[in-house]
Amino acid sequence: MQYLFCKRNFYFKFFFICKLFLFVSIYSFAQKTIAITIDDLPSALPKISLMHSVEINNKLIAELDKKKVPVIGFVNEFMVAVDGEEEERTEMLRKWVSKGLELGNHTYSHTGFTTGNFHKYENEIRKGEIITNKVLGEKGKKVRYFRPPFLKIGSTVPEKEKLNLFLADMNYTLAPATIESSDFVFNLIYLKAKVQDDTATMRSIAKEYLDFTLNRLKFYEEVSEKTAGEIIPQIFLCHANDINADHMAELLHLFTNEGYRFISLDKALEHPFYHEADDYIGNEGISWLLRHSNVEDREVFFKIMPKVKPKIRKEYEAVQDNQFIFLLEERIKGASVRVWLLFAFLGFIILLVFFFRVLFQKLNSKLNFYSKFLVIYINEFETGMNTNLINLKNKSIL
Ligand SMILES: [Zn+2]
Repeated sequence: MQYLFCKRNFYFKFFFICKLFLFVSIYSFAQKTIAITIDDLPSALPKISLMHSVEINNKLIAELDKKKVPVIGFVNEFMVAVDGEEEERTEMLRKWVSKGLELGNHTYSHTGFTTGNFHKYENEIRKGEIITNKVLGEKGKKVRYFRPPFLKIGSTVPEKEKLNLFLADMNYTLAPATIESSDFVFNLIYLKAKVQDDTATMRSIAKEYLDFTLNRLKFYEEVSEKTAGEIIPQIFLCHANDINADHMAELLHLFTNEGYRFISLDKALEHPFYHEADDYIGNEGISWLLRHSNVEDREVFFKIMPKVKPKIRKEYEAVQDNQFIFLLEERIKGASVRVWLLFAFLGFIILLVFFFRVLFQKLNSKLNFYSKFLVIYINEFETGMNTNLINLKNKSIL
């Protein structure tokens, strides 16, 4: 009986462990995955100063490092090779690499691939890897991925083939994207609000961006199920800008809240769907999923795809000239001047307190002396004796 009981116990434990193992395997297999990619390093807008750029990069790196998200950043080296600032800007890239983050090529000056410019495009790719390769080379690595600006990879089959051959020749892997949520639109309005210290607008536009990202994520899940038959490992595209730097924690939370686990681009691209040739003919930079949809489905998807609200689009168009960014730079410089003024003021107050303390000590000692002198004088005047008064005068005590 005892033996039977033990045997039953053994079988019970064995089946329990098997069930647990099966559950864990199914769960980890079914969990959705996503690779985060950040374009336009070191900063997405050309008028952004070095100081502003450093702030954006530091915030992004800190949050990604804290959550250990294996991100890849795609560099535009024209924003690194800035006269007089190249060393500091290169240092920002070094910081990415020092935290184990990957860097890729995004052309030298963010040039899109259009018909007839292939020669220029090739040069842009060659020129766009020099500093990045130097930085990666210090860690024994080299640039492996190419992200085409505007996701344009050629309008025709021969153009696409030409680019693929060139990239293969350069040992590059094309980095596609499945989801983007127009962060650049929200960012410009956010930045303008930041310049004006309008925290209410900053908060509301950040919320609009996060809500819109969630809508786009759900939309692309549908596209993925219809096109690939499952939710494939997603590749999210966003930019090195203020709205992402200030709200990366919420953005990452949005994905984990939807059941996603973060993976590297390497890992995402292992899925066979990323190795299928697309038959999309056109010059639009569209999601890898939409490139692989059939023509009828694609038209439906374009119609039902969540769009940026017209009010936000209008605001974005109104501030697109970026002139206000200069105001932001002035504000940042103004803020640092204010910090120095505050230090100077505090120093002055400390000196003032010290001065008055010494002064009061001196006065106090003088007052002490004269009050004692007066008391003795009155006392001796009344008694007719002046011995103590003479002593006090001679020793100048007290
Ligand atoms: Zn870009």
